[in-house]
Amino acid sequence: LTSQFNIPRRHRQLRHSLGPQLVEESNNETSQPYQGLTGLRNLGNTCYMNAVLQCLCSISPLVEYFLSGKYVTALHKENGEVATAFAYLMTDMWLGEFECVSPEVFRSVIGDLCPAFTKKTQQDAQEFLIYVLNELHEALKKSCKRRCYGNTSTSREDRGTGSETSIITQLFEGQLSYDITCLACQTTTDKNEVFTVLSLPIPSESACSLQDCLECFFQQDTLTWNNQIHCSFCGTKQDAAVKANIGKAPKMVIFHLKRFDYQGSYKRKLGTNIYYPLSNLDLSPYIYPLFRKNPKYNLCAVVNHFGYLDGGHYTAFCKHTLTQNWYSFDDAQVSEIPQASVQSAAAYLLFYSCKAFSVPTKTHKY
Ligand SMILES: [Zn+2]
Repeated sequence: LTSQFNIPRRHRQLRHSLGPQLVEESNNETSQPYQGLTGLRNLGNTCYMNAVLQCLCSISPLVEYFLSGKYVTALHKENGEVATAFAYLMTDMWLGEFECVSPEVFRSVIGDLCPAFTKKTQQDAQEFLIYVLNELHEALKKSCKRRCYGNTSTSREDRGTGSETSIITQLFEGQLSYDITCLACQTTTDKNEVFTVLSLPIPSESACSLQDCLECFFQQDTLTWNNQIHCSFCGTKQDAAVKANIGKAPKMVIFHLKRFDYQGSYKRKLGTNIYYPLSNLDLSPYIYPLFRKNPKYNLCAVVNHFGYLDGGHYTAFCKHTLTQNWYSFDDAQVSEIPQASVQSAAAYLLFYSCKAFSVPTKTHKY
């Protein structure tokens, strides 16, 4: 599936600020000092796709799963095209044989299922990310046998913790638990919901912190008027107080900063400078005390959005597993950036991991 348009790495200009020793080693065909630092060709407004793919390629446990060939045994043949194309692309991007590869096969496979992604118009990176994660989950899921002793017939909607698991749910899926209190009779019920991306409101137009966004997301809300809930104790619709907590924290947590604000036909982009920690993000204030196992998260990748609604540009910042340095991925351009540049007012999607990554190795033959 490797594209004929790929440029062999030996023909490229070295742009990375690496020492002379590493540059010399690049001539040695057996070592790939640039693994995981492969640019992606822009196929006409596909920067949203490229930025998301670079972030996914920087998540070692995910790359390892595909490079090791583990995915082959889990793959459902009938809807496995996206996962297979993803595996080939991750391999090309990780092995570092090329300066830049073209994601055209991946795009064409995903475009057969969702034609919006083959149009030459800008798409939303968050929608694309959710679409890809969902396709990978559907292709790689397996039924979980834990279901047989989970016969406490609660009305919980737990897709992830119950029936079907995949590398996607294992890495990215968390669970939100809502405590809903009827304001008439004070009865509290709970409702669970799985998530792979948390969409956070932005409480300021100028500047705020990621923690401010989290506070805003997890604060208690009151449901009135059209949003009233049916209280089974009162037997009628009632006003209710709702408070969300994290029931199960995922290994990787992805935040979507809701910069695109829609009010009827009026839409705008919030250029708020949101300060986010590069390490030790503490989610424990939002996690049920019983489940506080890995409360500290480190930033591993960022999708940036520049410009306005329809004509913007996406890039990615990713922390490299091998060097622990940060790199900027702007379509075909890959360059090392200082850690201080990772904080940017353009941040749109933030990927945090609760564990340090190990280096993926390729054992599967393609
Ligand atoms: Zn009630």
